[in-house]
Parts: sequence; structure tokens; C-alpha cells
Amino acid sequence: MRQAELRIDSVHDRAVIISPRRSNRPHDVAETTTAIHPPECPFCPQALKKLPAIYHLGRGERAIQVIKNSFPAVSLNNPRAYGYQEVIIETPKHDLELGELPVAQLDRLLKVYQHRTLAIGRLKKIEYILIFKNHGGKAGASLIHAHSQIFATGFVPPHIILKLKNVRAYKIEHGACYYCDTLKKEGRSPRKILTNRYVTAFAPYASSYPYEAWLMPNRHLDNLTRLNPTERQAFAQALHKILKKLNSIRVSYNFYLHQTLTDKDEHFYLRISPREQTWGGVEVGSRLIINSVAPEDAARFYRSK
Ligand SMILES: [Zn+2]
Ligand SMILES: [Zn+2]
Repeated sequence: MRQAELRIDSVHDRAVIISPRRSNRPHDVAETTTAIHPPECPFCPQALKKLPAIYHLGRGERAIQVIKNSFPAVSLNNPRAYGYQEVIIETPKHDLELGELPVAQLDRLLKVYQHRTLAIGRLKKIEYILIFKNHGGKAGASLIHAHSQIFATGFVPPHIILKLKNVRAYKIEHGACYYCDTLKKEGRSPRKILTNRYVTAFAPYASSYPYEAWLMPNRHLDNLTRLNPTERQAFAQALHKILKKLNSIRVSYNFYLHQTLTDKDEHFYLRISPREQTWGGVEVGSRLIINSVAPEDAARFYRSK
């Protein structure tokens, strides 16, 4: 792509100007993480011994531990900001990143996500569950030790309500799920990252972030807990591949997946948003987003060996 191009994603209410710049090739986007490394990491095994685990899976080097968030924004005893937060320590090893862990550990992590989604979904008045990860300083991580978080609220965020409305409108108009249609189409497009019998990953047409990637089950599944073990394994393998590629260019990233408990007919996906690009006046003022890496180039990068 030589000229910039405006791309609209009306379902997710996004307008992006894809404006590739030569200077923004993978090897140029390396950053140094600003995440702090305290002498006494609160997520290392020694410190975790003092904290009650809400849930844990695996032993020794495979251990994954779930603890309460010590600084929650929402809590079960605050009716004015009702919700619940947890932290998931992905590995006991302080210096390993999620992308460096074996596929089997990612599969176990997804299993923990499944378990916690079910448990939190049973809490009173919870309507929305977000599972997310901040990796690197630019993605909001304050601790380097690999961890992800769960953020559940008693209300559905406004932009999610709008998205669900748009997805329902699409279904009425086309008689099919927007995401089922999209993954079939993108699995054959130049934006394909990978596709197999169980999962499909692609760089979305109107990517907001350079190297943005979406990972979806091929089956129309409302949420993560519906993945069977074979699908979960395929999901872990695909995620591993994507994170390894991102680690190779050393960018901060967020990933997330969400579930709205009031809607039982969603098609869940995991969105990976690398955060090397800082939003400026255009983004803040107009809500138009300028993305300097064409999704077609991003997909080629992910597909490369
Ligand atoms: Zn640590
Ligand atoms: Zn679907």
C-alpha cells in the first residue's frame, strides 16, 4: 500500500486511517520496557506464599496462581462501583514472558481463564467479565512478572452495548453472525495470520494498532468456557505463535477477551493490541485513528518464519 486509506469498521464503531510509513518496520519499533523490577516482587513464589490463593493449577514450574487484586477499582462491597478483580500469575519464573512459555502452559492458562470465568459468572449481579493482559510499560504493566487480570462489573460498558446492538443488526440484515462471516472471509484474505480446523487469526481490516491481531474459534462459541480441550489447545498454539512474533520485535501489548453475561449468543475472540504507537492530537480530538502499519503487512509479518 503506497497511499493512506480510510477504513471504517461500523460494527465496532472505528474509523482508522491506514498510513504506512517506511520507518515503522518491525526492527524499528523496539522499545525498552519501563516496567519496574522491585527487589521483592509480589508475584514471585516467596511472596505468594503469604497470600491466600483463590485458585491454583499445576505445581512447580507449571504453577499458575490466582490472587485477589490488592488495588481494585471495583469491588463487591461498593454498590457505587460494583465489581470484582483478580490477578493471575502465569508462571513462578520471574524473568519469563508469556510468549516464552511452552504451549502447554498457555493451554493451562486458558484452562484457568475458563475456570475463573465460570466462578465469577456465578457471583451476584455480575454482568460483564473482561480478561486482559498488560505486557510492557507502554501497555500499562507496572510489574514485569508475567500476569494477567480479570475485571468484572455489575454493568456492561457503553461501547459494548453499542457493539452488541450492531452485531444483532448485522444478524437481522444478513441472517448470520458477523464474526462467523468475518473469520471465513479473513481466513482467505491477505490479512490471514493462520487458520486451521479449530481457530482463525487475522489482522483486522480496520486495525487500530500496528500489528493488531484477532484470534477466534471457528465454531460460534459464546465465551471461552465453551472451548473443548482440542479447541483450547489449538487456541493456545495460535496465541503462542502470535506472542512469539511480538516478542521478536519487543513491543508492549495488551490482549483481552470479554463476555457479556446478559447476551448468550456472542462469538468470542481474543484481541491483541500492540502499543508501540502513542495516540496524539488526531486520535484524542477526532477519534480517527492513524495506524502506520497496514494490516496486510502485519499479517505477512506474523506468517513469516
Ligand atoms: Zn517475580
Ligand atoms: Zn459466530
